[in-house]
Amino acid sequence: MRAAILTGLKTIEIVERPVADPAKGEVALAINAVGICGSDLAYWAQGVAGGFKKLDFSAEGLCKGYCGQMGHECAGTVIAVGEGVDSLVVGDRVALEPGVPCGTCVQHCRKGRYNLCKSMRFIGSAVNEVPGAMVTRFNHPAAFCYKLPTHISLDEGAMFEPLCVALQAVRRARVGIAMRVLITGAGPIGLMTLLAAKAAGATVLAITDMVDAKLVVARTLGATYTFKANTPNLVSVAQQAVGGEFDVTFECSGVVPALDLCVSATGSGGVLCVVANYKADEAGRTPVRLQELARREIDLVGVYRYCNLYPTALELVSSGAVNLKPLISRKFSLEQAGHAFEYFATGEPIKVLITPNEAAGDDGCKPCEFDEVSLEKAREFGV
Ligand SMILES: [Zn+2]
Ligand SMILES: [Zn+2]
Repeated sequence: MRAAILTGLKTIEIVERPVADPAKGEVALAINAVGICGSDLAYWAQGVAGGFKKLDFSAEGLCKGYCGQMGHECAGTVIAVGEGVDSLVVGDRVALEPGVPCGTCVQHCRKGRYNLCKSMRFIGSAVNEVPGAMVTRFNHPAAFCYKLPTHISLDEGAMFEPLCVALQAVRRARVGIAMRVLITGAGPIGLMTLLAAKAAGATVLAITDMVDAKLVVARTLGATYTFKANTPNLVSVAQQAVGGEFDVTFECSGVVPALDLCVSATGSGGVLCVVANYKADEAGRTPVRLQELARREIDLVGVYRYCNLYPTALELVSSGAVNLKPLISRKFSLEQAGHAFEYFATGEPIKVLITPNEAAGDDGCKPCEFDEVSLEKAREFGV
């Protein structure tokens, strides 16, 4: 099989790698769509993501575990089934849940919080040292593959993964009917959080970003208020616009001033949900006004991946309650993976997909019509 491998900073090479037959309980998949995640981009640009360990680009470093093989937002088509698999057949189109927990640890898995499992095998993760699915062919446990109905495209299936992060955020923040929600950052996770909060019943959906094109997309997805992130006195401007304080704020931008803004914008008794990753100082600290949170009884909740939410994502997309298609900015072939990263690194596109095997009849692939700026950049890159 062919794989897009990160072999150095901002360097992706297409290499031929051996592929095993699917093991017991696994299916072999032709990977049709893989999204580039912000964490992939961080490894590509800096060799480190989310404060976790730095990538080792030496020959030995690249040969163990992760191997520079990215990709965890993916969907594919079953091409073979391993022993004991009766839930899927050849030809089924599936979304892959990338994290496979041990399933037995008392502290996390058996408490129903498997995303926190210490033995998690998360594909395309340098932290967990497991190779990813930015490849033409990949084996994965059938129990972590979710069959897509015919009306859901493989591109949408690949986006279930970041949608699940958003669903986890909305669940952790206890978003409910008629709540007022503020989201800082209209990247893929911010926009998916918007969709998830809307599906959970929030009626005031405010979102901020520096890129106008992203705010336009946010509007089309149901944002009721959009604000440029550099608006002076943004907290009071936003609260005045929506007619009060926010019940819940989601920090999805990864910049400390936005985190600070969320502290101020969250109403007393509300919830501040930290979804993004931050550049911490050497002691691993990110500054946050704890006293302010404590004094106003604001719950600070974190999000790490997701737990038991793929069926929810499937139901939301299948029913039409959530439409992920406007989030796709552009698709690239596996050979163009390097270009895809350069394009994504401009910060202008929303979701960039790589299609290692083109699936016939998959039409969720048009460039996002709202993202003119990004298309211009794409042309600059000659794609
Ligand atoms: Zn990710
Ligand atoms: Zn476990």
